[in-house]
Amino acid sequence: MDFFSEPALRELILRREGSRCFYCLKSLGPSTFVIEHVLSRPTGANGYRNLVAACISCNNRKGALSAGDFVRMLYRDGFLSEKELAQRLSQLDRLAAGELKPDVTGLFLQAESVVAGEGAASQEAAQPRDAADAQTTRAADP
Ligand SMILES: [Zn+2]
Repeated sequence: MDFFSEPALRELILRREGSRCFYCLKSLGPSTFVIEHVLSRPTGANGYRNLVAACISCNNRKGALSAGDFVRMLYRDGFLSEKELAQRLSQLDRLAAGELKPDVTGLFLQAESVVAGEGAASQEAAQPRDAADAQTTRAADP
């Protein structure tokens, strides 16, 4: 899945971050966030392990820095407390380990209901009724 290009998936990354910048924890709105490559392209991929929601300012400032160096810089510049820095570093570890998978359940449910709506429902509904009739007939026989 391309979490960088697909708007619905970008939204899921933002939700995973609790609508806050992954780096500086500033609140993000639907129109004020960017999806940031933790590891810049072309090396970094468009998977959820390499993408975070960030504010435009962090996106601009990070440049070629590694994510770890960047959050340490935010700490030195007073944007993060010591505790927040520790949390950011641990979140980066969890991200790389694949533990911060966005919740895509809603997307799959939507896709399935679209497929189910394409006329297959009536055929399937008829089968259980036939089976039930056959059983009743058999049970009534002495
Ligand atoms: Zn930020």
